[in-house]
Amino acid sequence: MSQARTRGELHGYQPRRVKDEMRANLLRKLDQGEELFPGIVGYEDSVTPQIVNAVLSRHNFILLGLRGQAKSRILRALTSLLDEEIPVIAGCEINDDPVQPICRACRLLVQEKGDATPIVWLARARRYVEKLATPDVTIADIIGDIDPIKAARGGLALSDELTIHYGLLPRAHRGIFALNELPDLAAKIQVGLFNIMQEGDIQVKGYPVRLPLDICLVFTANPEDYTARGKIITPLKDRIGSEIRTHYPVAREEGLAITRQEAWWSRDGAGTIVLPKFVAEIVEEIAFQARQDKKIDKRSGVSQRMPITCLENVISNAERRARGAREKKTVARVTDVYAAMTSLTGKFELEYEGEVHGADQVARELIRRAVGVVFQQQFADADLERIVKWFELGGSLKVPGDAPAARLLEEFRKIQGLVESTAALGLKPKDDAAELAAGCEFILEGLHAHRRISRSEERGFFAEERPRPEPPSRPEGPGPRSRRSYQ
Ligand SMILES: [Zn+2]
Repeated sequence: MSQARTRGELHGYQPRRVKDEMRANLLRKLDQGEELFPGIVGYEDSVTPQIVNAVLSRHNFILLGLRGQAKSRILRALTSLLDEEIPVIAGCEINDDPVQPICRACRLLVQEKGDATPIVWLARARRYVEKLATPDVTIADIIGDIDPIKAARGGLALSDELTIHYGLLPRAHRGIFALNELPDLAAKIQVGLFNIMQEGDIQVKGYPVRLPLDICLVFTANPEDYTARGKIITPLKDRIGSEIRTHYPVAREEGLAITRQEAWWSRDGAGTIVLPKFVAEIVEEIAFQARQDKKIDKRSGVSQRMPITCLENVISNAERRARGAREKKTVARVTDVYAAMTSLTGKFELEYEGEVHGADQVARELIRRAVGVVFQQQFADADLERIVKWFELGGSLKVPGDAPAARLLEEFRKIQGLVESTAALGLKPKDDAAELAAGCEFILEGLHAHRRISRSEERGFFAEERPRPEPPSRPEGPGPRSRRSYQ
């Protein structure tokens, strides 16, 4: 059928409402046991079933969630529920159905040409229209405007429907219109949206235009903005069939799976890149720590993009270091996580207490706590007393962050029991120097995170002067001292 070039060649074609089309394709996918949203991890038992229900119900729906919860991605994936291609009247600005045109120009065309009306085929990717709502979005942007040039050219009255320059919504006719951050849309435009959903009527510059658009409307919003009184006009809210809450990964493993999938890894000319599991876990744990940190604004959330960009920077720093040291193999270390702080500080909004400390200190503290948590899991049963003792007996170790692995390992070997302790990470003393060095460094960083040894820029690692057995995974920062600092 997609060979058809005119209306008359569309034998057996039946127009179908877009929500019926999505429903039918979804049912077929369900029957065939197809994966519905490939690449979307951790929503299988929570968000996905609710979206399925909304589509089966032929609802307009809204995804409520914080930033970086794959909301836009899910909405874009809805195009997979559309037909591969549909016939539209050639030249129509709003993808009119050849059998049921709604715009005035097409209705006139079909009247004149009948079955000879030319058609083209529209691929499903082009039936998805997306817009970020901001307070300065106008009716003209979304719905349309009178185009005086069109009017002059055609010798038409301004109120004639043929003089309309269509906005985004009519252009999404027979498709999906996604509006992100709905509460930021001015009330006036919300009313316009409501009228379209309710009556198929729009008003352009005060002229009523009947345009029975067929659109699946989907929205996103921050949950607090959405529920705040007066942000969404009640009749519009009433017409949104389903409210679906998204969430951050529940378990670190899920977060890791997303980060591994999204982060940029396979790089040209990078040689072999080794990302030890503990480094990946630390990066992911930073996001988990940040999401529960009182110094960070919970309302705006901590996006999954934080661990993704952080991991990319970790690998880049390792890459840079390996280049400088002329090493063929790039092994990421905890040092690289600290060096990736630039990818963290912009990813959260600070509460007042956080602002007092500054983003850098908050980020550094997050890394330290993440190191502490992952370290605790890996080394819960390990006896690391010998290593702590070495420092208490006056040992200290300072190596530049960019030191080659072999040089670093040489230093680490001086500390009794350190290299052997990497066995808890699955390493053996004869293993690759770079991997052993990364493991040893993790142990020292872990001991530092638990305040069993100290570390400073100037001195490197040395004995903790006043041992404090506090666990580092406390949700709160340094405590009394910092509180005093701003009184
Ligand atoms: Zn048309």
